[in-house]
Amino acid sequence: MLDNTQIERLEAEAVNSAKTRQPLYAPRRKIFPKQASGSFRRFKWLVMAITLGIYYLTPWLRWDRGAFAPDQAVLLDLVNRRFYFFFIEIWPQEFYYVAGLLVMAGIGLFQITSTVGRAWCGYTCPQTVWVDLFLVVERAIEGDRNARMKLDAGPWTARKLVLRVSKHAIWLVIGAATGGAWIFYFADAPTLLGELFTGTAAPVAYITVAVLTATTYTFGGLMREQVCTYMCPWPRIQAAMLDESSLTVTYNDWRGEPRSRHAKKAQAAGKAIGDCVDCNACVAVCPMGIDIRDGQQLECITCALCIDACDGVMDKLGKERGLISYATLSDYNANMMLATAGGSSAVNPSLVRTADGLFSDSVAHFHIRKIFRPRTYVYMAMWGLIGLGLLYSLMTRDRLEINVLHDRNPQFVTLSDGSIRNGYTVKLLNMIPEPRTIIVTIGGLPGAEMSIVGVDLPADRSFAIQVEPDRLKMLKVFVRLPADAIHGEAQTFTLQVEDKASFESNEYTATFNTPEIAR
Ligand code: SF4
Ligand code: SF4
Repeated sequence: MLDNTQIERLEAEAVNSAKTRQPLYAPRRKIFPKQASGSFRRFKWLVMAITLGIYYLTPWLRWDRGAFAPDQAVLLDLVNRRFYFFFIEIWPQEFYYVAGLLVMAGIGLFQITSTVGRAWCGYTCPQTVWVDLFLVVERAIEGDRNARMKLDAGPWTARKLVLRVSKHAIWLVIGAATGGAWIFYFADAPTLLGELFTGTAAPVAYITVAVLTATTYTFGGLMREQVCTYMCPWPRIQAAMLDESSLTVTYNDWRGEPRSRHAKKAQAAGKAIGDCVDCNACVAVCPMGIDIRDGQQLECITCALCIDACDGVMDKLGKERGLISYATLSDYNANMMLATAGGSSAVNPSLVRTADGLFSDSVAHFHIRKIFRPRTYVYMAMWGLIGLGLLYSLMTRDRLEINVLHDRNPQFVTLSDGSIRNGYTVKLLNMIPEPRTIIVTIGGLPGAEMSIVGVDLPADRSFAIQVEPDRLKMLKVFVRLPADAIHGEAQTFTLQVEDKASFESNEYTATFNTPEIAR
């Protein structure tokens, strides 16, 4: 166990602090985040491996859909206007599934933010993940914080040039891989990879890779925290989603202040000091370059690396972890009231401890039940209902559809024998990756018969039409009704479709128009 004075004090100053709040357009101050270690850092490594693994590997997963459909598990086939996601195939008119998923993602984000603050920013936002990855490269090449600061401040030498060129070259490779992975979601990945390297891919593929290489390199390598602070709207929006029961990364000054590196002197003088030894470890690891001890700040992405850094210091001092911790505002306020004797004095950390130095029973700690409150129940219910609705709709959706458009001009034609003919454009949708024989039948409208342009068969009430896999077939159909079968004004009837092999069927209710003279 170490004494306060034995904890190394790092020369780290927040880029924007309560003492020296910078104007919004102040020149950028470089940040050299120190490597953190601890449970949150390990969790972030895990999330990073999972998210990057999913992003880079997904286009290479295969999914057998038979001979008539692509075998890429996740594919946005813009040319044929299809979206494939494993066993699910979405047609353009089914875009509401995508809209539903986006709504669910939005509600999920509200849920997460109201519960654990900006966890999205701190762990899974692509900007955070790629900055983390770029920092891994930077540390591997240039060293940790002190070595990087020294290198940055030093003159340009052959070594510095080699290190910098190596770093930026690897960053560009990561950027290119990021752009490359993106375009593989829009075409058969192995084929496109071959085309990319043989120069035969479409120009838009090269342009997309170039744009994403540049943006990934610029945002992840060069701009880093600037993107979160100045470009992203989420830090501004999230304030409306937090409430006093939301968990956020908090400096618990009710046990930390006043800070001192000289505990023994303070004790000898009869002064109560807090747990913070003012070592700056929390500032040095912060990728946003801020000091969490200044309180909640727009820049804080709640990555929790300062918690790891401080917990390491507390371990060395033999004190309880959690001087910086995830805490709710209500718990923080309760503990602050305790430490200030109801707000009547400055923070006196001895008020939150018993005589033997342990936390008093009155100290509020986070409990998992605080996550479950009316607001989060509402989010959960909305999320679950939309999800169940989408799932039900997905499981029961039609894979055989018919759409009918009545000719507007002319609305009917009177033939020489007095019968009336109406024209229709009929679309048959075979939404499975197998060819089908679809039986098209007139339902109702007694006496009516139809003929199909291009089908060399006599008029009938039913036709068998071949439709290619996963395709829409457009037919020009004429329905003829003998004069003696016309009753009343416009009559409704159905055009029915049926696949006898799969027992699927569907129908469309259409109108048959007649002239005044025929009624
Ligand atoms: S203050 Fe802590 S939680 Fe916030 S960004 Fe910095 S290291 Fe992450
Ligand atoms: S809060 Fe923790 S890490 Fe930060 S200066 Fe104080 S003791 Fe060090």
